[in-house]
Amino acid sequence: MDLHEYQGKELLNSFGVRIQRGIVAQNADEAVAAAKKLTEDTGTGWHVIKAQVHAGGRGKGGGVKLAKNLDEVKTIAGQIIGMDLVTPQTSADGKRVHQVLVTEDVYYPGDSEPEEYYMSVLLNRGNGRNMIMYSTEGGMDIETVAEETPHLIFNEEIDPATGILPFQARKIAFNLGLSGAAFKDMTKFVTSLYKAYSESDSSLFEINPVLKTSDDKIMAVDAKVSLDDNALFRHKDLAALRDLREENPIEVEAGEHGLNYVDLDGNVGCMVNGAGLAMATMDLIKQAGGEPANFLDVGGTADAARVEIAFELILRDPAVKAILINIFGGIVRCDRVAQGVIDAYKNMGNIEVPIIVRLQGTNADIAKELIDSSGLDVMSATEFQEAADKVQEVLS
Ligand code: GDP
Ligand code: MN
Repeated sequence: MDLHEYQGKELLNSFGVRIQRGIVAQNADEAVAAAKKLTEDTGTGWHVIKAQVHAGGRGKGGGVKLAKNLDEVKTIAGQIIGMDLVTPQTSADGKRVHQVLVTEDVYYPGDSEPEEYYMSVLLNRGNGRNMIMYSTEGGMDIETVAEETPHLIFNEEIDPATGILPFQARKIAFNLGLSGAAFKDMTKFVTSLYKAYSESDSSLFEINPVLKTSDDKIMAVDAKVSLDDNALFRHKDLAALRDLREENPIEVEAGEHGLNYVDLDGNVGCMVNGAGLAMATMDLIKQAGGEPANFLDVGGTADAARVEIAFELILRDPAVKAILINIFGGIVRCDRVAQGVIDAYKNMGNIEVPIIVRLQGTNADIAKELIDSSGLDVMSATEFQEAADKVQEVLS
């Protein structure tokens, strides 16, 4: 589960990580009130208005803007709230902005230039350790840094049993070229950051940029926080931060029915049991010249009721030109699945796209009989390749 920037920053702050101060606002008037409050608390005259959507690259898309007085706060907040923000990480339609974070300006001039760094904390699945990835090249795409100047990206492996050790925090501050007060502040920053990551059971923190202010303070200017869904049961307060408006409505609905659905861009709907088979099915569709419209794991009990919900969800996507049902009958017998497909098809009564069903496993032959004699516009297949060929046939 992803958090908004403002929620991520609050989480960081609760662990002692210094953040750029901000107040979230739902409309232009709230934004002005927020800016006034920030001026009282921090003395800042300038503010930054930041779109709160689950996507990075907001600055590039016009979702992060500097306001130099309250009139500008009002105008900019009014422009950003309600816009469909397109960034390199959204679809071409963009993401609707419902709220903005009004922050203090922390790039004020001073004795030294403010500097931006990159820092993320994530799990290295290869060795079961956490990893702090950091770079002197903050503020830009880390993918670009990785491509053009990979030697400027550092990794520090953290043993989850000990947590970050003092020498590791110092090494990070040193590699970032810091000295004096900023060096010391960075060791505190990264130590608290790791603690926040670990104790919130997060799967990813990405802080880009981490800022060294002109008066040598280290702080998080941005915060991308992804929580581990499997650990949410022990973080009720964090689970409550979920913003369903940011998620694909079909995926949310599928989740409510216990179906694992991921929306994709293609034209062949997939209904499969088991995540591994679902992935193999998507590969096969690609090889046959199609593009999967979704990933859908209907789980172990592919009965008529579940199949019907699955049909319904797949057909919400107007791009779907065919549906491939690929079910392995192990625990649930193929003939029961076949009957489920037939019942659901008849119940819905309005399925206009061709359907290819491949059932394999217990009672596969009886299942094929049932489908073939149902009189419905459903093609059956027993072999994987045969199913793919039929998909290709109906698409061409
Ligand atoms: P992202 O584009 O979605 O990654 O959003 P960020 O939170 O990283 O903000 C984008 C950019 O806005 C940053 O890289 C900064 O250059 C700029 N920015 C953020 N906060 C401030 C600020 O307080 N003052 C100024 N002048 N620029 C800021
Ligand atoms: Mn950023």
